[in-house]
Amino acid sequence: MFASQRKGTGLDLEAVEMATRARMHQAGTAVLTGLLTVRIDPPTRVACSCGAEARYHDHRRKQLLTALGPVEFDRAYYVCPHCGHGQSPRDRELDVEGSRYSPAVRRMMAVVGSESSFDQSRQQLELLAGIEVTAKAVERQAEAIGADIETRQQADIRRAKQLELPAVCAPDVPVFYIEMDGTGVPVVKAETEGRAGKADGQPPHTREVKLGCVFTQTTNKNDRPVRDEDSTSYVAAIETAEQFGLRLYTEAWRRGWSRAQKKVVIGDGAVWIWNLAQQHFPGAIQIVDLYHARQHLHELSARLLPNDIKVRKRWVARCLDRLERGKIEALVKILRDSPPTTEELLKTIANEAVYFERNAERMRYPAFRLQGLFVGSGVVEAGCKTVIGARLKRSGMFWTVRGANAIIALRCCRLSRRFEDYWTDRSVAA
Ligand SMILES: [Zn+2]
Repeated sequence: MFASQRKGTGLDLEAVEMATRARMHQAGTAVLTGLLTVRIDPPTRVACSCGAEARYHDHRRKQLLTALGPVEFDRAYYVCPHCGHGQSPRDRELDVEGSRYSPAVRRMMAVVGSESSFDQSRQQLELLAGIEVTAKAVERQAEAIGADIETRQQADIRRAKQLELPAVCAPDVPVFYIEMDGTGVPVVKAETEGRAGKADGQPPHTREVKLGCVFTQTTNKNDRPVRDEDSTSYVAAIETAEQFGLRLYTEAWRRGWSRAQKKVVIGDGAVWIWNLAQQHFPGAIQIVDLYHARQHLHELSARLLPNDIKVRKRWVARCLDRLERGKIEALVKILRDSPPTTEELLKTIANEAVYFERNAERMRYPAFRLQGLFVGSGVVEAGCKTVIGARLKRSGMFWTVRGANAIIALRCCRLSRRFEDYWTDRSVAA
């Protein structure tokens, strides 16, 4: 490089940068190999998980992909005469038991794999870190880490179920929110076979991810509600409402729900949301997202009055006015009084009337506003896009439920700013 520089042939900076990095990595693997090769005699016996003692058997070669490149080293291997189990204590020490990847590489694979498709992740690792792995390897590692996060989550949920959660040391919060929503994720055919068509209101070949957000609120100087910066944490999974209810309850507890002065649950009209609110968050103020309610009226008007735009606008304006003023009984009366033309429309109107009737107490918007509360579920809707959509709903993606749930667990952990803590705890536990 210096020679070509002196000859004045110019410098291809990028080529030099990348070549130098590759050389530095190579030098690094030599250092690592030296460190990993232990020269002292290994103990002749080590404890086996069965309670007996395993005996030194031989030295075996381990291949590992590290952040600096592939390395190989020998370590002592032990076999238990009692149960026949083989082990290398050195692997446990290095946190590479049963893995071909070093902890640093595994973390990188989890982070990129949670952000982009597995093939893009592979390309990014090569470009940004000089690490060559397959897309499948990224998939396996990211999913394994997501599954491990979920296993820990399930342990917390079990404790919550048995009311054994430790007291929360969170500061008291004036207003605490929970928002819930569902969003469809495309899945491979086998995951929808045998399931009733659109039972959960989802398009075919998708499964519903239930997403919950927990966040706190303060008010600005004009007494308008503002979401506390960085206070949002997320939980989500493809699972039953019952399972999801416990998941969200555990998260709310962890965030200090029990110590909130005012508790609010916001969602659309979906029945499962209000069932969960009743069961797990009794006493919370329940609010139906105003924008969903408005949407109902716009859609209904388009069906009732498809041709007369002027009349339709007037009709919607009247309905919206009652809605905004929380006069739901008056709104229901307008709906019921609208003259239907077909049997089908009659049914639609009846359904909508029931929707507003059933949710009337959740639509007293002026009262909610007076208390300085949010009346929209914007946080969870944004969450559906950022937590789920941005990674799991790209074109051409079809998930297994297991794979989707692992990546969802990983994304929720990262977007709730908990991944670093998880990674540290994990090593300590190991
Ligand atoms: Zn044993």
